[in-house]
Amino acid sequence: LDPEEFRREGYMVIDFLADYYRNVEKYPVRSQVEPGYLRERLPESAPSHPEPIDTILKDVMNDLVPGLTHWQSPNHFAYFPSSASIAGILGETLAAGFDVVGFNWMSSPAATELETIVMDWLGRMLTLPKSFMFSGNGGGVLLGTTCEALLTTIVAARDRLLERIGRENIGKLVVYGSDQTHCSFHKSAKIAGIHPKNIRKIKTTKSSAFGLRPDSLRSAVEADVEAGLLPLFLCATVGTTSTAAVDLLGPLCDVAKDYGIWVHVDAAYAGNACICPEFRRYIDGVEGVDAFSFNAHKWFFTTLDCCCLWVKDPGALVKALSTSPEYLSNRATDSKQVDYKDWQITLSRRFRALKLWLVLRSYGVENLRNFIRKHVKMAMRFEELVAEDQRFEIPVPRFFAMVCFRISPTAILKQLYSSCHQHCQKYVEEDSVNDMNRKLLDSINGEGHIYMTHAVVDGVFVIRFAVGASLTEMRHVMNAWKIVQEHAGELLGQTLC
Ligand code: PLP
Repeated sequence: LDPEEFRREGYMVIDFLADYYRNVEKYPVRSQVEPGYLRERLPESAPSHPEPIDTILKDVMNDLVPGLTHWQSPNHFAYFPSSASIAGILGETLAAGFDVVGFNWMSSPAATELETIVMDWLGRMLTLPKSFMFSGNGGGVLLGTTCEALLTTIVAARDRLLERIGRENIGKLVVYGSDQTHCSFHKSAKIAGIHPKNIRKIKTTKSSAFGLRPDSLRSAVEADVEAGLLPLFLCATVGTTSTAAVDLLGPLCDVAKDYGIWVHVDAAYAGNACICPEFRRYIDGVEGVDAFSFNAHKWFFTTLDCCCLWVKDPGALVKALSTSPEYLSNRATDSKQVDYKDWQITLSRRFRALKLWLVLRSYGVENLRNFIRKHVKMAMRFEELVAEDQRFEIPVPRFFAMVCFRISPTAILKQLYSSCHQHCQKYVEEDSVNDMNRKLLDSINGEGHIYMTHAVVDGVFVIRFAVGASLTEMRHVMNAWKIVQEHAGELLGQTLC
């Protein structure tokens, strides 16, 4: 690794990325390539001899960039955001540059100690109770994804219970989420050895805005207990993937407490917003839960991957996940320093704290709050525009910076009646309304100027408009709305029967 060569090539890569960001708005947001496109362009085998970085960067531009979906485009309103920033990217670069493997304190003391400090800083920003902080005998850890956070905590809860009642009872353990809980919960529970028939997806309804109701949880738990099963774990979500709905933590914890259930809060998206005092109420009751996680790589201007997990009982994680091979033994471990390898699935780990530290220091708490507020404000403006146009409806309430909307059945019927004199019934069915909205989304995304994705809640197809890309300004939101209106106008203008 020649430092001067690194400098030369490093400048070229940063220049390349700076140009990418300057032009990102011009690319079709959703990649327009067909499956297999890249194999047709790249050689069958790796090159035998070195190739210069400028040639490689040219190929990145010509061959890879067309196959990217541009998550950092200001016109990306799909899924949940992945908000990059200068500090996030440079923090990632610094960490990759040092390339330390901080599995325990000794293997890179700064990596471990910075992580404990940053997790306490963040915990304070969220006003998490002291019991989640290192000073309160809890603590935080940076993992890759929410899926890992769920897996580690289910395993910790599982072993804590099985140690008491015997390993032979694993088949009786039951875990709970709602029908809105992210699929990573299901996956994690399965990996943790929970029998698939014991993974509950409790039904939610529009009347509770698709939040999990405590009485539904209680009924499910009571039925399981009566059947001789053992309630283990609840995954409550603050900001569900489909509609950003919120499970109310306080009342759910009251139920969980009665049965000794471990409660994990998956706040992957919305947890980011809870650093703003005005959104903090969405995690009221967090003092009653066992673990809380959110993805800083979603809406905290930090690059993928960076899931922040806090637990009240790190001992439960360590008991379930620690390994002590002789080659890792050292005096620091003996003196009870944090060895993060025991808080996660893998042994080796990345220096994720560095990018978070850069983000926190480069922007400061107030600016981070203001970025989030700006996104919420833009989503509110979009919501107003949708509400003003009678052809559309907002079937579920807006939470945070995401609006779910659709062409309304009434608008479709109105158009149908004006163009069909036989009063045909084709668009009365919900399926047909869903089809029309699916067509609208396909038509918009196919054009490539903006990108949105969908959800189906209670049988209703909704288009999700999630604001959160770092480069998005109000003009992008206004333009997106214009595009939606144009495509809807064209669709509704066609003969419908
Ligand atoms: N939980 C929620 C609520 C999500 O919205 C998502 C992804 O969007 C996830 C979990 C999955 O996160 P990860 O990819 O970090 O496992």
